[in-house]
Amino acid sequence: MNNPITHLLRPHLLQLKPYASARHEFKGQAEIYLDANENPFGSGVNRYPDPYQMKLKKRIADWRVVNPNQIFLGNGSDEAIDLLIRLFCRPGIDKIVIPAPTYGMYSVSAQISNVEVVNVPLLDTFQLDVSSMKRRFSDTTKLLFLCSPNNPSGNCLEAKALLEMITEFPGIVVVDEAYIDFCLGESILPRLNKFDNLVVLQTFSKAWGLAGIRLGMAFATPSIIDWMNKIKPPYNVNSLTQKIALEAFDTIDQQQAWVQSLLEQRKVIVDALKETACVLNIYPSDANFVLIRMDDAKMRYNQLLKQGIVVRDRSKVLLCNQCLRISVGTPDENQSLIKALQNNS
Ligand SMILES: *Cc1c(COP(=O)(O)O)cnc(C)c1O
Repeated sequence: MNNPITHLLRPHLLQLKPYASARHEFKGQAEIYLDANENPFGSGVNRYPDPYQMKLKKRIADWRVVNPNQIFLGNGSDEAIDLLIRLFCRPGIDKIVIPAPTYGMYSVSAQISNVEVVNVPLLDTFQLDVSSMKRRFSDTTKLLFLCSPNNPSGNCLEAKALLEMITEFPGIVVVDEAYIDFCLGESILPRLNKFDNLVVLQTFSKAWGLAGIRLGMAFATPSIIDWMNKIKPPYNVNSLTQKIALEAFDTIDQQQAWVQSLLEQRKVIVDALKETACVLNIYPSDANFVLIRMDDAKMRYNQLLKQGIVVRDRSKVLLCNQCLRISVGTPDENQSLIKALQNNS
């Protein structure tokens, strides 16, 4: 069997005999279930959920035009990030590569697993410094995380650089598209079949308005998905989450309307703040937030807080001196934000 990723796995996993759950060993339909020590009484959530979420995966597969065996579902994308590190990175030996600044969980998950993080600064346009990145690639750099649109800068990474990373990196490249629904540029997902070392992360937490159900998606070649399934907790996505996500597909128009409204509102915020004295620079955004350089980020953060408005102070982050990251809210919330900043200026 020619498995394109076996050589990248942590070798001890090849000996792993995964836990076989009751709902995995018997997959058919029966009259009487006495196999999982469940309570037969109860109000609909007394049974364990489908460990591989097949009904939901079929729906997602149709929507994203992939095969169900190219989908992993997790307790948020954060679970997928953690599982990928545990699949591929030997603690104390292997490394992950990330651009800086980017989403914080890649580095936190790596540190929890005792996996070294190689930080490569982005250019001051927040685009990839391709040659610096490539200099850090080695046979122990197993995972490269690229976030596009990037958090906290909000921009999409240029497609050409992204593709160059995927073809040149010796390990697995994870492209985190949590904000892809807000971006006019293209997703890398349609190219999934071209790359055995590509994992694309998406989530129900942003455009879908379902952060509370904790549901993230990873798309990859079936052999990577199989391995993620082998090491995940058996029932990692609960029944209520699966149910609510399936129902959300019935009102997908709502999701698209929200995205449209958030994009319009992003423009409202940008146009108003451009004219505001305390604002020095607004970075172009392809996401549902904007990164804004202030005259004094800490002071403005505290002023907003006094008026009941919480934003994210990113001023300690590389390349984000004096920057606040502000999520797009409802029209009313955005007007309150704009007024607060104008009055403080
Ligand atoms: C919000 C966000 C996620 C989503 O994580 P979930 O665990 O799915 O809620 C993933 N990646 C990035 C970059 C994010 O900003």
